[in-house]
Amino acid sequence: MRLLLFLLITALGLMAQAGPSTRELNDINWMEFQEWAPSRIQTVLLPAGTLEAHGVVNNGADNTAPVALARAMAPKINALVAPVLNYGVTGSLDGFAGTFSISEPAYRAFVTDVMTGLARNGFRNLIVINGHGGPQTAILNDVAEKIGREHRIRTLVVNWWAYCSDVTMKVFGEDGGHAGWNETAFIQAIDRELVHPERYKPSQATARPAAGAWSAYPFPSSIILYQPGQGYPKFDQAKADAYFAAVVEKMTALVKEIIAKWDEAKLFQR
Ligand SMILES: [Zn+2]
Repeated sequence: MRLLLFLLITALGLMAQAGPSTRELNDINWMEFQEWAPSRIQTVLLPAGTLEAHGVVNNGADNTAPVALARAMAPKINALVAPVLNYGVTGSLDGFAGTFSISEPAYRAFVTDVMTGLARNGFRNLIVINGHGGPQTAILNDVAEKIGREHRIRTLVVNWWAYCSDVTMKVFGEDGGHAGWNETAFIQAIDRELVHPERYKPSQATARPAAGAWSAYPFPSSIILYQPGQGYPKFDQAKADAYFAAVVEKMTALVKEIIAKWDEAKLFQR
């Protein structure tokens, strides 16, 4: 009787299970992966970042942000999360301590093989959640399109901070910046231990030059304001939490919409 009850509870538990025991490719085993993908899970989120100085938040902010985003989004869109591409093509902040930059050919080759692996594992929708801009974006866009064409899988690359710039305006009432109020707040919402307001000085910020105006190497500040006079970090926890929630919502809605349109147009049907 007790055994029957136990079996019944286990069976009900399995039926109620809305997803696999983990949504992380890093943590799932091959048997559970086989049970879920691609038969019941067709979407994979691939976070991409780099190690780059970010004002008074962690050098790995561009990894921390897309990983947290992907984890928050995955259950809402029934996706798995691939390990983050945590070394990237950094650019003119690579003179700061603790930064790394991967050469473009090496990055392109590595990313091509990672995306090929995700395609070979049967995913139908490959969504890159990119946390770092500059030349890295163009490489990700190009490689994702090539892999999509070659393997007939649907790919989307989103630069979360750019797609959600209207959320920045709405939550903070002003534009943000690289390691500015918005990005610092995003990290603060994820893990406040990674934010060091005691080290902050407004002189650590420089406004981004207008196109063609000037160019400096190394760029003199790791806080780069999109607009002069806007986006200085202010460390407001309530705004940080509101921003994180609104970004997750907007990013989730975008991915849902694009997948629904791919489905409606019957693109790369299986
Ligand atoms: Zn960043």
